[in-house]
Amino acid sequence: MKVTILGAGESGVGAALLANHLGFEVFVSDGGKIKDNFRQELIDKGIPYEESKHTWTSIFESDEIIKSPGIPDHIPHIRRLFDLGKPVISEIEFAGRYTTATIIGITGSNGKTTTTRLTYHLFKTAGLNVALGGNVGTSFARNITENKYDFHVLELSSFQLDGIVRFRPNVAMLLNITPDHLDRYEYKMENYVRSKFRIAMNQREEDLLILNGGDPEIQNYLKVNRLTPRLIQVANHFEDTRSLSVGDSTFDMTGCVLKGQHNFFNAACAIHAAKSAGISDEVIQQGLNTFVNDPHRLEHFTTINGVDYINDSKATNVDSVFYALQAMQKPVVWIAGGTDKGNDYGPIEELVRQKVKALICLGVDNSKLLEVFSPVLKNIEEVKSAKEAAERAATHAERGDVVLLSPACASFDLFKNYMDRGDQFKAAVLGMMNDKR
Ligand code: ADP
Repeated sequence: MKVTILGAGESGVGAALLANHLGFEVFVSDGGKIKDNFRQELIDKGIPYEESKHTWTSIFESDEIIKSPGIPDHIPHIRRLFDLGKPVISEIEFAGRYTTATIIGITGSNGKTTTTRLTYHLFKTAGLNVALGGNVGTSFARNITENKYDFHVLELSSFQLDGIVRFRPNVAMLLNITPDHLDRYEYKMENYVRSKFRIAMNQREEDLLILNGGDPEIQNYLKVNRLTPRLIQVANHFEDTRSLSVGDSTFDMTGCVLKGQHNFFNAACAIHAAKSAGISDEVIQQGLNTFVNDPHRLEHFTTINGVDYINDSKATNVDSVFYALQAMQKPVVWIAGGTDKGNDYGPIEELVRQKVKALICLGVDNSKLLEVFSPVLKNIEEVKSAKEAAERAATHAERGDVVLLSPACASFDLFKNYMDRGDQFKAAVLGMMNDKR
């Protein structure tokens, strides 16, 4: 069987390693330049590849095509593959065929990485033989090639789910569905919703689907669609900020880094998955106490002159800013802006009115933020760098306030990516402190 892999990132190279390991004829094709470490891996394994081009005539002759989630379905050559009746699948579909391990698949518009990492951490704390993969860290295919695990905890994007055929998670989570990536879904919310629910399309009665019980898009879908797996609907509102009840167990959250309604919800979902694997409450509590989240997600990284500084650069849409603002207990100097993905700021207007004392717009084109929030806020200004943003925010912030970078936008106008944006912001704030010394 001849397998062509389109895109040589972590998932593409992972798929190539697995296909090669299985003895298939493999060809990797990337329209851009391949990263040095990935190219080297292909060379070391003797896997043929091309870069900065796609030789479509040869690709059309493949028996199966594994497409990177970054390549949209609607481009002409991909359409042609579909027209030719060629199977075009994602690396997740491909890898899923070659494991009998228990799969925990996690999707949603927001909270995937946090929930995936916490779920993995709970399983790991229990001493289980578990891998972390998918959209976070190592690809699923690479994990399968390199080791035999009993459990795979996978972060799954809608693009990865678009390329599945038979992939079946034993435990699936659908955290929430709010507008994101609509450019890939003909700007139709129903297409995006359908894509997210693909996570459950092959599940059986004995499988489990953990859902957000308070998400309107999810609940509307459930009204008109019958799903096969066992459902657990998790509430997304919590009165108590110190403890978390899941089923008939209660966990102390005072020693857990996860704060805010959204994170309690993420934790409840992860706990349900852990309980389904028979992990005890004692071990779950231990896992909650020792969990460390990835940076750039409501990351409180310093306090200067009584002002807390929080880096939430990963908040690239309005919904994540909603939860960030909701979690704030102090007056907020809010830094936002970047590449707008068609934002509707309506859902956060009231929160901004209540909690934000100044808005610093950090982007090339800030017109939408200025238009929406100028009537709401007295203090609103524009900056063009992380350093300027930190400096201007500091002038607005008084002892007892919080400076929150939670942009609601992608970062590509001024930064390499959200990590670069968060890192530059942190460096600027910490540099400011050193300048003052
Ligand atoms: P993802 O992997 O889906 O992008 P992350 O865990 O990286 O999710 O978090 C992305 C952003 O969304 C962060 O700003 C985080 O604070 C926020 N967030 C986390 N969980 C949720 C949730 N359940 N609902 C809304 N926003 C969330």
